[in-house]
Amino acid sequence: MTTKYLLSEDQVPRRWYNVLGDLKSPPAPVLHPGTHKPVTPDDLAPLFPMALIEQEMSPEREIAIPDEVRNALTAWRPTPMYRAHGLEKAIGTRSHIYYKYEGVSPSGSHKPNTAVPQAYYNAKAGVKRLATETGAGQWGSSIAYAAGLFGLNVTVYMVKISYEQKPYRRSMMQTWGAEVFASPTNRTRAGKQILGKDPHSNGSLGIAISEAVEDAATHDDTKYSLGSVLNHVCMHQTVIGLEAQEQMKLAGEYPDVVIGCHGGGSNFAGIALPFARDKFNGKNVRLLAAEPTSCPTLTKGVYAFDYGDTVGLTPIVKMHTLGHDFMPPGIHAGGLRYHGAAPIISKLLDEKIIEAVAYAQLACFGAAVTFARSEGIIPAPESSHAIKAAIEEAKKGDAEGRSRVILFNLSGHGHFDLAAYDAYVAGKLEDFEYPRDAVAKSMASLPVIQA
Ligand SMILES: *Cc1c(COP(=O)(O)O)cnc(C)c1O
Repeated sequence: MTTKYLLSEDQVPRRWYNVLGDLKSPPAPVLHPGTHKPVTPDDLAPLFPMALIEQEMSPEREIAIPDEVRNALTAWRPTPMYRAHGLEKAIGTRSHIYYKYEGVSPSGSHKPNTAVPQAYYNAKAGVKRLATETGAGQWGSSIAYAAGLFGLNVTVYMVKISYEQKPYRRSMMQTWGAEVFASPTNRTRAGKQILGKDPHSNGSLGIAISEAVEDAATHDDTKYSLGSVLNHVCMHQTVIGLEAQEQMKLAGEYPDVVIGCHGGGSNFAGIALPFARDKFNGKNVRLLAAEPTSCPTLTKGVYAFDYGDTVGLTPIVKMHTLGHDFMPPGIHAGGLRYHGAAPIISKLLDEKIIEAVAYAQLACFGAAVTFARSEGIIPAPESSHAIKAAIEEAKKGDAEGRSRVILFNLSGHGHFDLAAYDAYVAGKLEDFEYPRDAVAKSMASLPVIQA
């Protein structure tokens, strides 16, 4: 009976998989926020180094991972894939459940998979400082760690409510050498604009993005860095699925369904896109993204052109969106709070290559506790959405009298999220369904794009 499927260091992938090379139709253009014309590489140059802009638009199916990046990734990669014998027994299923565990990275999630190459390409282009946003702090801590490896400074705009409620993530960022500010700040015009309207604003990811983008755009030695959503970020994460494909071979099985939780789409892309390539080549595999009912971007959002941030400074992209003025409900403890979804994931959903499902937070925390008690690892609240989806898939298989092979991505551990577990155990969490009318109302503020 095997529990862990392990690869050797020389099996860390040498190439990322770029799904843009396999799309049947080209992705929707990315539009300039001022002119609404398709952006050119030059438009993006104040924000990103050219190597990343090229990756963002590249039609190459595979892109080589530089040796320096691969060497840095070996600090924790390949990550283990487990057979969830304990969970299978706990829920009494005949299905086979596997999970890829990304919590073994220095910051405890999948995010360093893209933080490392982003820091590398920026350093190589002579950039001195990165400006970025973070919600709960997973991205900020990942980029703080990775930037340090390549000698870059980092400024993090951290959503104020998280800055106040999650001091230990801030400590991690500072330990790795980053400077951290509670957003909205008075350092940027975007921040001042928000504070002018609401001096007690709790902040949001969209606001923090506005501040980081403005910081980068107004300083020559500084670029912007984003932890999810963009094509190059999704591509960097494919090391997860590429390794998992080798590990499933070791297990002698092929998944019926591949699952990831979904916030901006990067860890789901990471596990699912290499399997999407199999699907394009005729394999029968389902790809399922699991999101919260309180931020139901894929299941209730509209597939439309929208800004990536609240203030409207970022390029306009076609994606599933709840509207760029979306404010997450305060009672939601599980992360995954971004108003949009990765354009690439949105397109694959629109084309029915992937599926999406939404779960309420009490059910997800329940699944997380079942998982912790049967598998040992305390999952990140975000990851619990994937666990919940995996359990539901197993149960559906049982109801059909069939054993399913289920693979999910455990995107991180929950060691810095224990306050959310406390709230759950104390009965302080409530479920919330983000209403369709609120989505409809926000659609009125979408940018108006002439066809
Ligand atoms: C950031 C994060 C997510 C959500 O982001 P995606 O881009 O959708 O992957 C999920 N899980 C963990 C552990 C995270 O840190």
